Amino acid sequence: SEEPSTRRRVILKLSGEALRETGSRDNISPEIVDRIANEVKEAMKTGEVELGIVVGGGNFWRGASASARGMDRATADYVGMLATVMNSLALQGALEHKGVPCVVQSAIEMKNVAETFIRRKAAKQLDDGKVVIFAAGTGSPFFSTDTTAALRASEMGAHQVLKATMVDGVYDSDPKKNADAKRFDRVSFQECISRQFKVMDSTAFSLCMDNKIPIVIFDLGKHGNVTEAILGADVGTVVDS
Ligand code: UDP
Repeated sequence: SEEPSTRRRVILKLSGEALRETGSRDNISPEIVDRIANEVKEAMKTGEVELGIVVGGGNFWRGASASARGMDRATADYVGMLATVMNSLALQGALEHKGVPCVVQSAIEMKNVAETFIRRKAAKQLDDGKVVIFAAGTGSPFFSTDTTAALRASEMGAHQVLKATMVDGVYDSDPKKNADAKRFDRVSFQECISRQFKVMDSTAFSLCMDNKIPIVIFDLGKHGNVTEAILGADVGTVVDS
């Protein structure tokens, strides 16, 4: 139907690094992917939410790091985008294994392994209750997967971006380096941008600011947090206007 959905629609951003077991030589931990898939399944079975997922690629490769070591930036970024496709396929496999309907839409055409991103098609799949995994970032170099999450959230009319990370929110300095770092329950986009908080890049913050999409920054390490975040619980720092 043409009726707008009344369900909560969110975009979950998972960093690539989150899929790696600390200290392991494997880029992807099947156990961690399985755990995340379980958490997603818990949230989806309520039938109350529509979920898009953007996965990073930092567990394999980061364009900026390779470029700092002499590689052409655009080429390095394409390598990074391809890395996100590997992570997306791993996550899709785990979700399907648990009976969660799921599609991968890739911003770079790769039709033997994923659908090609078409905005209207993705929106329909979300309407239908499928989890849509957005692979290959924006499809353009010089962007990040955080920005991809902000972009897809804007295109899909999502209510929130949920950024799962290694810390439990936004701090005014790195809590791992500074014992006096102050944590925010809520902070404005303006403050994140002007104080250059590193938790997300400024392009991602400004896109969400312009399109009035709040971001929730939360700790992926705490079990249950992914489910709770998807269902709208107060699990981290809220960044909004
Ligand atoms: N990337 C890109 N364009 C995009 C998204 C990602 O070029 O729209 C590349 C970029 O090189 C980036 C890499 O893919 O370093 C992996 O993504 P990201 O660093 O965002 O992954 P995460 O840190 O979330 O694991």
